Amino acid sequence: MCSLISHCEVNKIAKYDVCILGAGVAGAAIAAYLGKNNLKVAIVDRFLGERDTIVGELLQPGGVRLLSEMGLSCFLDDLDAQKVYGYNVINDGKSCLVPYPDVNGKLHGFGFRNGKFVMNMRKYLRDLPNVDLIEGKVTSLNFDDSRISGFTFLPKGGEKSQTIEAHLTVVSDGPSSKFRNKLSNPEVEINGHFLGIILEDCALPYENHGHLVMGDHPPFVMYPINRKEIRVLIDFPGTTVPRINEELKNELRENFYDAMPSSLKDAFISAVEKGRLKVMPNHRLPAKPFKVGGAVLLGDSLNMRHPLTGGGMTAAFSDVKFLGDKILSIKDITDTVILDGHIRAFYIDRHRGSQTINILADALYKVVLNKDLRDAFFDYIEQGGRYAGEPMALLGGISKDKSMLIKHFFAVANHGTRKKLIRAEIMSIGSSVTMLRDAVKIITPLLKSEHPDKATKFVLNTIS
Ligand SMILES: Cc1cc2nc3c(=O)[nH]c(=O)nc-3n(C[C@H](O)[C@H](O)[C@H](O)COP(=O)(O)OP(=O)(O)OC[C@H]3O[C@@H](n4cnc5c(N)ncnc54)[C@H](O)[C@@H]3O)c2cc1C
Repeated sequence: MCSLISHCEVNKIAKYDVCILGAGVAGAAIAAYLGKNNLKVAIVDRFLGERDTIVGELLQPGGVRLLSEMGLSCFLDDLDAQKVYGYNVINDGKSCLVPYPDVNGKLHGFGFRNGKFVMNMRKYLRDLPNVDLIEGKVTSLNFDDSRISGFTFLPKGGEKSQTIEAHLTVVSDGPSSKFRNKLSNPEVEINGHFLGIILEDCALPYENHGHLVMGDHPPFVMYPINRKEIRVLIDFPGTTVPRINEELKNELRENFYDAMPSSLKDAFISAVEKGRLKVMPNHRLPAKPFKVGGAVLLGDSLNMRHPLTGGGMTAAFSDVKFLGDKILSIKDITDTVILDGHIRAFYIDRHRGSQTINILADALYKVVLNKDLRDAFFDYIEQGGRYAGEPMALLGGISKDKSMLIKHFFAVANHGTRKKLIRAEIMSIGSSVTMLRDAVKIITPLLKSEHPDKATKFVLNTIS
């Protein structure tokens, strides 16, 4: 046994089928899925109170469907969650309503407070007799020969560390993961920041819809998170973290007031005055796991994409279902060869569930920042029918058809090019070529990064 901390400091060792680091969106969901199917699970999080965050507040219809498929729709109960039927896309003040394609009238997403949602998940875990939900900070992953055998944590208020052993360790410690580099080759990029504000007691131009507002200002998104509150996320491109001070408040008033729909202007000014502003970095992290016996990465510690499209939780639930189904299909979880084989299969198969969400999120963000492509995109979805419906099915996590995504992406660029050429402006040939070149530059690296990494195929025997 080569635990990273000496055993004389350790209070207690407990044995489980699965132990999970982090009881956030991904960790709590996999604990619930495995726990309700009778596996013995321990899950540890450094903070079990209600978190106040601006992330994870719009769940796309694909995520709602995944929860239902796993028998976990109750996570959405009693949240004052608001149904979301599609988006109102605004470009330079012009509006276009694009609903999710819905053949039987039942498809929608949900907006809610993330803190309340995660508390619901944890309440569910507390009610499962074979799941132990523990408050404590995980300080190390432990190794037994070349396999991960569990982790050590310092319980809240305790002085002595405790160790948990399990056949499988799930590492889901979120966007700022301290442990992902033990299980992957992470290349984390920061693509700007979102500044979050809550607008109170006002009405969106289209209630029960997300709003994407584009123009000669950085983009922002809005959606209802309960009956009284609307979340606004404003993009600050670049790597500089916006500092919350009077200067920033002035910038918000100057740059975004005009673009705010009129029904929200007063509430926006009042929210800026009150100063309840929060900032989060927007990451991109292609999944590059390597196979380590007995452990698996899940959620933002494995893979991140731009939050513009609100796809992170849907991607996480897709992974939870792929991984959960693989683990639950194992007859004997002590069989390390079978277990490790299933983890490897998860890393390869998971792309089928998350690649379109990831590609679309990062591609759309770049489109929105590029005036020609943004105008072409708006014009394209304004045609309605499948020009709006299919992209919305991809954004909602309802369709996972990668070829359809590529087809629409290039069709947008073609559409913009054609429109420019029809106008027969002298400059239009040059800018059409630039638009097509930009489109290729945007999509090519995203497509490349959505393949299972070659390293997944190798078992690394030398873990330090
Ligand atoms: C600005 C922004 C807005 C977003 N909006 C949306 C949206 O509207 N819709 C959407 O689907 N996605 C959205 N996302 C993405 C989404 O929030 C994430 O994909 C999702 O929350 C990932 O879940 P997770 O479980 O990996 O991480 P988290 O939910 O962050 O959970 C990680 C958990 O690990 C715990 N932890 C960390 N380290 C330790 C340790 N050492 N010991 C014990 N516990 C530890 C933390 O306390 C935390 O509870 C957004 C992201 C950003 C940045």
